[in-house]
Amino acid sequence: MFRGIAASPGIVMGKVYILEKEDFPILKYKIKKEQVEKEIERFKEAVEESKKQLEEIKERVKKKIGIRESYIFQAHLSILEDPLLIDNTIERIKKERLNAETSLRNTFKAFPKKFASAQAGFIQERFRDVEDIGERILRNLLNKPTFTLSHLEESIIIVAYDLAPSDTASMQKGKILGFATDIGGRTSHTAIMARSLEIPAVVGMGDITQKVKPGSIIILDGNTGRVIINPTPSQIEKYQKEEEEFFSYKKKLEALKTLPAQTLDGREIELGVNIAGSEEIDIALKDGAEGVGLFRTEYLYMNRTTLPSEEEQLKAYKTVAHKTAPNTVIIRTLDLGGDKFISHFPVPQQINPFMGWRAIRLCLERVDIFKVQLRAILRASQFGKVKIMYPMISGIEEIQKANQILCEVKEELKKDGLSFSEDIEVGAMIEVPSAAIIADLMAKEVDFFSLGTNDLIQYSLAVDRVNEKVAYLYQPLHPTILRLVDNVVKCAHRENIWVGACGEMASDPLFVLILLGLGVDEFSVSPTSLLEIKKVIRGIRWEETEEIASKLLKLSTSYEARRFAQRRLSKKIKKILEEG
Ligand code: PEP
Ligand code: MG
Repeated sequence: MFRGIAASPGIVMGKVYILEKEDFPILKYKIKKEQVEKEIERFKEAVEESKKQLEEIKERVKKKIGIRESYIFQAHLSILEDPLLIDNTIERIKKERLNAETSLRNTFKAFPKKFASAQAGFIQERFRDVEDIGERILRNLLNKPTFTLSHLEESIIIVAYDLAPSDTASMQKGKILGFATDIGGRTSHTAIMARSLEIPAVVGMGDITQKVKPGSIIILDGNTGRVIINPTPSQIEKYQKEEEEFFSYKKKLEALKTLPAQTLDGREIELGVNIAGSEEIDIALKDGAEGVGLFRTEYLYMNRTTLPSEEEQLKAYKTVAHKTAPNTVIIRTLDLGGDKFISHFPVPQQINPFMGWRAIRLCLERVDIFKVQLRAILRASQFGKVKIMYPMISGIEEIQKANQILCEVKEELKKDGLSFSEDIEVGAMIEVPSAAIIADLMAKEVDFFSLGTNDLIQYSLAVDRVNEKVAYLYQPLHPTILRLVDNVVKCAHRENIWVGACGEMASDPLFVLILLGLGVDEFSVSPTSLLEIKKVIRGIRWEETEEIASKLLKLSTSYEARRFAQRRLSKKIKKILEEG
């Protein structure tokens, strides 16, 4: 049994596929005896396709550059026929019964040794060329310009060094039972995405990829962060019992769907959900969501080869606005960068991506991209109650610049004769410490705030949210965080604007009660946590949370704060959640 960070709840058992960590990620899995011939055929077809492509390149180079330069591609073509590459791979598929991609990669791994002994002439000098060719065959094998997980045919558990949020976004619930990764933290976008897709996950496991073999059976427990490899019959029995209990607990919560999120002493709280695509809204509404407190729009830009057009975006925003009406949808403008990338938009490699060119900074520079999105959001505003929210605001100038562009877009839409809701509200995410500290000034510029606690904690405590090595420093109850939230709420209320919280703190029963006590007016949570959070809010008096929060503000370390909060609330929360 191995332990990691519980990243997305649920318990599953299934067969392992390993996602190999390379520049070009591939799946590693066992094939059945009867699939061997088909797999060899697939490999040969990919080699043929690669030959065709190289022939074309060679001809093009010959015409455009010259015959001498085209020889290099002739050399590439000869490599494609080399038995070291082709026959070895076919042999491996037969003997090791691993898929063609893995067999090809294993052939490459064995190459340098082979060349050293086999005086392989020019091939030895051109090892990089050989690697290029290998990659070309791999791409043709996958028959896709970029890798996605959507081509899987059986239900499996993924084990990987790491997964990008775009990989997780392309996972289909049912096909991917769950995943475990070597690295990563609870508030990485990969983990957040897993929770919104309800795919159980454990991250930050260290070296699970080295411990498990493809085809092994594992139990993955996303509630406690455990992974059991090749479980015994008694462990399987225990797992089945826990799985049943988890389901009946979820079922019990369903009774809360139509009830308001109101404390015992009558404070009504706005409770919305975080979504990442228009497809998620139906399930979220069925699960009892009222509004959408955070629509992470960057996922509309992922797993595709072009930027989404105004019409495509309009369709997505309109669907959500329409289905959620009369309740609110807060659409956050593009928050690309950090740990979220798209292959077709070249965000340069940055040493410090979370503090680099991302989110609003990128949009204020690429006004062309920003305007397309603002047009689509504004046009969608006539189909429901839409609000705009800017991510990663660090000071007043950024809001003013973004609002200036918003004004221009409104004028342009008017000229084009396209309608929108003129008085659309605009808010700022409070997730950069500088913005939290000048909340008094910020509050004069916007209609609402939403606390992005994931980034606010990361930036204030200088703790990378995706790095499991420093996860122990990621302390939501650090005095700094409590003071910042307290300041933001007080400044907002003084200016008569409301404050929400849409980071993962709001999806945790203990932390949500503390935010409640600090005066946060709205919570936007991951859909899987919605009913649990509602139940906790309904089971407590607001006055009590206020009293706890004010005492917490006087403590000087995260440790004391955590101990105090647990002592005052953990038992109570357990009791509330267990009540019928
Ligand atoms: C946050 O930072 O808390 C937040 C909600 O935004 P994201 O997780 O998308 O960075
Ligand atoms: Mg953020």
